[in-house]
This record gives sequence, structure tokens and C-alpha cells, in this order.
Amino acid sequence: MKTNKTMKVVIIGNNVAGTFTAQNLRSLNEDIEIEIYTEEQYPYYTRIKLPELIPEKVTLDSMIVFKEEWYKTRRINLHLNKKVVNIDPKNKTILFGNDSEPVGYDKLILALGSTPNIPPIKNAREMKDQNKGVFTLRTIDDALKIRDYLEKFSVKKAIVIGGGLLGLELANQLKDTNLETTVVEFFPRLLPRQLDEECGAMLKKEIENRNIKVVLNAATEEILGNAKVSGIKLKDGRIFEAGIILIQAGIRLTIDLAKNAGIKTNRGIIVNEYLETSKKDIYAVGDCVEYKNQVYGIIPACMEQSKIVAASVIGSKRVEYQGTTPKNTLKIVGIELTSIGTIDPSKEETGGWEILKKADKEDCCYQKLILKDNKLKGAILFGDNKALSYVYKKMEEDVDKEELRKLLELYIFVCNNCGMEYDETKMNTVFEDLPADFKCPGCKGSKDDFKKKE
Ligand SMILES: Cc1cc2nc3c(=O)[nH]c(=O)nc-3n(C[C@H](O)[C@H](O)[C@H](O)COP(=O)(O)OP(=O)(O)OC[C@H]3O[C@@H](n4cnc5c(N)ncnc54)[C@H](O)[C@@H]3O)c2cc1C
Repeated sequence: MKTNKTMKVVIIGNNVAGTFTAQNLRSLNEDIEIEIYTEEQYPYYTRIKLPELIPEKVTLDSMIVFKEEWYKTRRINLHLNKKVVNIDPKNKTILFGNDSEPVGYDKLILALGSTPNIPPIKNAREMKDQNKGVFTLRTIDDALKIRDYLEKFSVKKAIVIGGGLLGLELANQLKDTNLETTVVEFFPRLLPRQLDEECGAMLKKEIENRNIKVVLNAATEEILGNAKVSGIKLKDGRIFEAGIILIQAGIRLTIDLAKNAGIKTNRGIIVNEYLETSKKDIYAVGDCVEYKNQVYGIIPACMEQSKIVAASVIGSKRVEYQGTTPKNTLKIVGIELTSIGTIDPSKEETGGWEILKKADKEDCCYQKLILKDNKLKGAILFGDNKALSYVYKKMEEDVDKEELRKLLELYIFVCNNCGMEYDETKMNTVFEDLPADFKCPGCKGSKDDFKKKE
């Protein structure tokens, strides 16, 4: 074992988690040797802009966040095109697929990430592997392959299987290349993990307004076609034609390398609050991690974990990982949508939950704040981001309900005749959107009988 001064840290994986762990390690310690191995051929790039690479709205070069110089100045040695096929925890080495020598480590960090999930749809995997027009989007190379295929076969119609964030962002970019685009979603609403039913319906309308067809409750049974894809068949028998199929149906955490080395895994690589795995001197960070039965798959989790794992590796275990609050923003120009934390208290076991909601269907605006014991626990903000910075700042903190009411511009309207209150925070419709023939439930007076309570 080398002394701490020359400790050699090896990181496998060079995306957000691996790269920021290396950066944090270097800022904590000037002397350690840092080696990163990745099977990809590019230095660190952000996956966020991948859908935009298909219609060439961004260049490949602009996708690369850290160029060679960045690694050089930090003395981080990056090894591209190096797939690790085995870990030997006993001898503290990693091995590669070709004849190259094993590489030793003092500390090993697994930043292996995840890959797109392919649901059990007949022909999906085969047609993807045989390049017959079924694709997933995870890497720069995936985006380039999709672009080539669209050009080569002058594709006119696309189907995206999966109405989650990535599916919708991808569909939006495909539609911008003049493809007739359809999104098929297994669940009865779009973004099933980030939205409730009501907001899901509003989003569907907005997506359809952008000329993207949406099919819900759609279980894809089979990909159709021989030499290349021609469409899909749903379990209910409906058939949709398409020249390309893109599957964006969640992720699968990359665990096999760890599992084969005897490291404890479940859905992900199991870690403790210091991001240590079950094997000494081996750590894991980012998408590949499972912490207290939770997996994340989002950049904020990678960033938080990368600080903690770096500190753990150099032996300063001051900060414990507490999990990351899920935060998601839909990145489609003209649609403001953020979902954060708990969005459906009905699924929680404990009580004390309260919802403040503004649903303005006319203006396609939905604001829902979820409180528990007066602490802000989650929010859906659609169509208006006014409350966003407040929500980010106040998550998990006590809130003043009057302040929230003002922030969301929610009002109480009082019937002049009988005193009946119409409290917008508790209703599905804002007062303005009520029909002209609305009758006061107390005295049957008209809408004009109501005045805003000051
Ligand atoms: C199109 C798209 C858009 C996204 N948009 C957002 C967004 O807006 N917000 C957000 O929070 N998240 C977003 N995400 C998710 C985000 O990109 C991931 O959470 C993040 O990339 C995870 O980083 P990671 O470093 O843990 O893993 P990964 O990014 O998966 O990187 C792991 C790397 O390790 C390499 N590797 C794996 N095994 C080996 C091996 N055996 N040998 C060598 N190398 C290996 C892989 O090739 C890969 O390069 C998006 C993802 C995609 C695909």
C-alpha cells in the first residue's frame, strides 16, 4: 500500500459522477494520483443536450464540457475507449477486455451510470441490435446513429415509446426535424412519476398543441417490420406506422461489473452514507448507486454524492449522504414545468399532509404545493415558474401559508348574500374560470355576488 501522499485513486466512468468526483478529489488533495477509465470515446459531455444533437441544433464539439486542457491542468489522467471487464478486489486491480495489463488501485470508485431500459416488447432488442430502426438515446454515438438513420432512409414518421421527461424532450426535437411524431405511454398520463392526473392532462394538451400525437394507456406488444421497422402493435390490437422507433422507457443501473466482483447489489450498487460499497476501498457514485432502497438517475444526486465520496476516499468522513430530493424540469421551449419532492401525499403512510393548489385550466397553469406539518415537501409548477426560487429555497422548511397564497395569487371570494367562501386553494378551478351561470352553493346567488376577500 502506498502512503497517503501518493495514493492512487481509480475511477471507472467519466460522466457527471466520475468527472465531478475527480474534480472534488483534486480540490481536496493536491498530491493523489487520479486515473479515470471510460469505455466512451469522448471526454466529459452532458447528456442533457443529446436530443438537440439529432437535428444539429448543437454541434458535437459544443457538447463536450471539459476538453483535454481541463484534465491536464488538474492532473487527472483520462483514459478513453477503455472498457473495464473485471475487478479483482483481493489484488486491488481492474482488468480490460484486450491484452492490456491489469491496473492497480489504492481506492476504486465506480461511476458506472446506467443504460436505457428496453421493456419486453417483441422484436425490440433484436431490431435495435441489428440496426433496423429501433434506437435508445443515451450517448453521443446513439444520437449520431439516429441522425444517420433518419437521413439514410428519409424517415417521415417517428414513434417514441415512453412519455417521461426524456421521451417528451426527444419527441419535441424529432418533430422539429419535420417528422410526424407520436408518443406512446403505458400509463394513463404523461410524466407518470412527476405529475398528478390533473396536471398530466394539461401537459398532454400542451404537447398536442405542438403537433405531437399522444397515445396513453398504450402497452406496446410488438415492433413491426422485417428488413427495417414499419411500426408498432399495441396489446389492444391498434397499429401505428413509423419509420423509426425510439425507446425512452426508464433506465437500468449498471451493476454487473460490481456484482461479478462480489460487491452487494440490488437494483443498484448498494452504498452506505459514505458511498462505500460492501468491499473495502471500493466506492460507488452517481446513477449506478442504490442508497436505502432509493435509486436516483438525476444529475443533482450525482453532484451531491460526488462531494461526499471524494471526502470519504481521502479519509475525511465529515458529511453523510442523506439522499437527494427528486427534482425534474421539462426542457421544451415554451413549456415551464418543474416537479420536485413528494407530489402525491395519498401514497404516503403518515398523516399531516396539506395541499395548496391553483389550477387555471384556461391559461394552462397549474401550481401545487405539498406541505407536511407546515413544512414544504414538494411541488408541481406548470405554466408559471414564479414560485420556483421560493420552492427551491424553502424545501423541507417551515412556510407561512399567507405568503404562499400571495405567491401563487390564490384568493378567497366571499358571497355578499350569504357569506359562503370560495377558497381557490381548495378548489379545482380558479374563480375566474367558473362558468358565467355559476350559482352560489349557499344561496344560489350569481357569480357577480362574490367579492374578493382582502
Ligand atoms: C437524453 C438525456 C437527457 C437527460 N437530461 C437530464 C436532465 O435534464 N436533468 C438531470 O438531472 N438528468 C438528466 N439526465 C440523466 C443524467 O444524464 C444522468 O443522471 C447522468 O448522466 C448520470 O451520470 P453518471 O456519471 O452517474 O452515469 P453515466 O452518465 O451513465 O456515465 C457512466 C459512464 O461510465 C461508463 N462505463 C460504464 N461501465 C463501464 C466499464 N465497465 N468500463 C468503462 N466505462 C464504463 C459508461 O460508458 C458511461 O460513459 C439525462 C439523460 C439523458 C440520456
